[in-house]
Amino acid sequence: MRLLVTGGMGFIGSNFIRYVLEKHDDWEVINLDKLGYGSNPANLKEFEEDERYTFIKGDIADFELVSKLVKKADGVVHFAAESHVDRSISSPEHFLNSNVVGTYTLLEAVRKENPQVRFVHISTDEVYGDILRGSFTENDRLMPSSPYSATKAASDMLVLGWARTYSLNASITRCTNNYGPYQFPEKLIPKTIIRASMDLKIPIYGTGQNVRDWLYVEDHVRAIEAVLLNGESREVYNISAGEEKRNIEVVKTILKLMGKDNSLIEFVEDRPGHDLRYSLDSWKITRDLKWRPKYSFEEGIGRTVRWYLENEWWWRPLVNEKVLHPTPWKLGW
Ligand code: NAD
Repeated sequence: MRLLVTGGMGFIGSNFIRYVLEKHDDWEVINLDKLGYGSNPANLKEFEEDERYTFIKGDIADFELVSKLVKKADGVVHFAAESHVDRSISSPEHFLNSNVVGTYTLLEAVRKENPQVRFVHISTDEVYGDILRGSFTENDRLMPSSPYSATKAASDMLVLGWARTYSLNASITRCTNNYGPYQFPEKLIPKTIIRASMDLKIPIYGTGQNVRDWLYVEDHVRAIEAVLLNGESREVYNISAGEEKRNIEVVKTILKLMGKDNSLIEFVEDRPGHDLRYSLDSWKITRDLKWRPKYSFEEGIGRTVRWYLENEWWWRPLVNEKVLHPTPWKLGW
């Protein structure tokens, strides 16, 4: 299998590439990434000499480039997106360019150059918006709350429309919040670990009551592999481990694992439009593709804290005032 992976220098994409290259000796990966601020070539350093792996720096909105790459692929796994909600509030135009125009360009390249290629579009639970009780299924309406989730919802619609009209072999995954190794330090879990290791205050939006459903990244990449190999065309698959936690609980768990005091916690001004609770029903992927998460939150968070503490070489060069800012949605791009 020769895969074109977009956005493979980011958090989930690089975990996915590492997983498939370690598992499948005969798979090849072309990684197309524009090397935006959240990407990091150090994520896949160990594959630089591997002849099964090729990195290409470029933008998914470059039609000529993606057309050439799509031609050579048996599968496309599309991670590339601007992904940070806070940044989408201060600079939404970047999100339209990558998430909407970029996905449109990739779909056009597929339709014109390789319409049979297997295509997996990586989306998010945020497209459904928040829910106070119960969990969203794949048939629920999309009600995004932020410029980030609005552009992701738009890209999901493009994939469904192109798949139906042009008979593309495309599926969509919608996953809950991921955590684990190689996540850029501006996100809640790495930021908490890094700031706590420096004995700095840990900022929490509002009162910390917002609930997120957490999935260890390795469980996510196994689910994507299952959809790539056995998913049905034009189907959407929710992916969740059902590990719902309030943000305050997540931070307290990390502080406890690190032997730090809760007095480090500092509540800061909430971000506008902050979703209260996300929750997904992932029965369909369990039933149809036999996928189940391997890691409980307790196991996953323990592994994640250990990874960050043992891999300061990875995160130290990425850390600056902007990345660790307590209310990044107030900053410009
Ligand atoms: P990330 O920001 O770590 O990685 C995204 C990568 O895409 C970066 O390397 C960036 O350089 C690249 N990229 C962005 N725009 C590009 C463009 N126009 N051309 C080429 N490359 C471009 O994000 P992530 O957390 O790894 O998320 C990956 C995907 O998974 C996204 O589509 C996101 O919406 C989705 N997702 C993320 C989560 C999560 O918790 N992180 C949960 C569900 C879904």
